[in-house]
Amino acid sequence: MTTVALTIAGSDPSGGAGIQADLKAFSALGAYGMSVITALTAQSTQGVNGVHAIPSQFIEAQFNTLYQDIYIDSVKIGMLMNKEIVTSVAQLLNDNPIANIVLDTVMIAKGGHPLLKADAISAIRDLLLPLATIITPNLPEAAALLDCSEAKNEEQMQQQGYELLKLGCQAVLMKGGHLPSQESPDYLITRNNIIRMTSPRIATRNTHGTGCTLSAAIAALLPKHHLEDAIKHAKNYLQGAIEHADSLKIGKGIGPTHH
Ligand code: PLP
Repeated sequence: MTTVALTIAGSDPSGGAGIQADLKAFSALGAYGMSVITALTAQSTQGVNGVHAIPSQFIEAQFNTLYQDIYIDSVKIGMLMNKEIVTSVAQLLNDNPIANIVLDTVMIAKGGHPLLKADAISAIRDLLLPLATIITPNLPEAAALLDCSEAKNEEQMQQQGYELLKLGCQAVLMKGGHLPSQESPDYLITRNNIIRMTSPRIATRNTHGTGCTLSAAIAALLPKHHLEDAIKHAKNYLQGAIEHADSLKIGKGIGPTHH
């Protein structure tokens, strides 16, 4: 049976992040991809110039139309922009269960543009996080969710991962890319296990959409793999995309990865 994966996220017309990246990852990993768009952005590799949030009634119309017709194996949640959209997506997933929910706690684009309003962070924590099979925060996002300062080392990273787990999700993938270390350590934390996974740092500035790509890859793989295998496989996929990023030569700014 084909895995059907849905992304509920924002559009990046430059193709490197958002739903465009998610659909590429779904397809490359053998899943049939669908999208519910939460926001349009005007952006390129040089940054985000504008954001237009979709009215929540129309987000609901997109989701309900799909859900009534097509069985959905997994969903990846990305950019949600504001509290109203977060509340609406949480309600949709409460009313219409999906077995595998990957929550990428998107907050700020690499260029610094906000992709989530500050007053929506508590709604993500309180309404969406408890529904998630796995959340994939980077260190600034984990700190914002916990309302504490950013982890400075691996010990603090693990502690914050456990704090997030206590808030009700089934697993946390703490992404340590922001630590100033040679390798980039991630921790997969569940109620009965903690696994350290590292990736070598790759010297490239073309990392636009890495978080989107990883969470979409996990959503594509979760329905047919155990959690740990899905994460390892998804990380390998992203690693390959970053390794080949410089061969793309797209745009003048932070370019996309190649996948
Ligand atoms: N644009 C959209 C629509 C996104 O969903 C995201 C990330 O989730 C970004 C931009 C940010 O991409 P990056 O920070 O990797 O440049």
